[in-house]
Amino acid sequence: MKFTVKSRGDHDSNMITQKIKNYLQEFELTYNSEEPDVVISVGGDGTLLEAFHEYTDRLYDTAFVGVHTGHLGFYADWKPDEVEKLVIHIAKTPFKIVEYPVLEVVVRHHGEQKTERFLALNECSVKSTEGSLVMDIEIKGDLFETFRGDGLCISTPSGSTAYNKALGGAILHPSLSTIQLAEMASINNRVYRTIGSPLVLPQHHTCLLKPLNDVDFQVTIDHKTLLQKEVKSIQCRVAEEKVRFARFRPFPFWKRVKESFITD
Ligand code: NAD
Repeated sequence: MKFTVKSRGDHDSNMITQKIKNYLQEFELTYNSEEPDVVISVGGDGTLLEAFHEYTDRLYDTAFVGVHTGHLGFYADWKPDEVEKLVIHIAKTPFKIVEYPVLEVVVRHHGEQKTERFLALNECSVKSTEGSLVMDIEIKGDLFETFRGDGLCISTPSGSTAYNKALGGAILHPSLSTIQLAEMASINNRVYRTIGSPLVLPQHHTCLLKPLNDVDFQVTIDHKTLLQKEVKSIQCRVAEEKVRFARFRPFPFWKRVKESFITD
């Protein structure tokens, strides 16, 4: 089996990364950062998001696992003092894979054929860089509403506990192949009207955002912000690809939610 280890880059994460690398090589696993079967991220949720984006072209062949060197992460759920146990699991026992949906985002530009495609593990957020964002929102090809406000967040079920949660979105179990659209401070009065509630769309229901004013957009895919100019539309739906996590012990989603937000 081929593996790689991705560190957040701080001293503790680098030490643990080296330890994991040495142990796994002693167990005769092959270090291969080009075509890994397992990617171990050492740091926080941000490190796992980075690792996911580095291997989006290998999602069918790669499984992720996260070790946290700070506080408990949502994706990084192994503690530094459990590293020996984790290494033995990876090297010696067949592990279970759980697959979670990811978000596909396609950005089309005015006046050119160029389209850009992104995958998000948590979410895509869209904000205008100047003034309010004004966008028609089409769902499954039909105009649903015209949004006016700070922005929109389209999240995956596993990202529903991240930015989406701060916007009042629902927490969704990642076994559901859905995306969720949450508003950021929509303007609602006698002139402008939006639904005001987060919407959950099933697989194959595409959500298309069509800017009505000629402004630049800040489109954030997980932890990365891209400035988009001349945007004609932003299309979001559940991607064909899924993210695969290596599971070595049960850690039910609702337990993870409870331990992250309520009490451990
Ligand atoms: P960061 O360093 O700003 O950390 C954001 C926090 O979100 C961290 O505590 C991280 O552990 C947590 N987090 C990330 N993914 C999560 C998930 N799926 N469920 C629960 N918590 C999660 O940035 P980062 O570590 O690079 O993470 C980027 C993420 O930050 C974005 O994908 C977005 O979801 C989130 N974010 C949240 C807000 C907000 O809550 N107001 C605003 C912007 C971005």
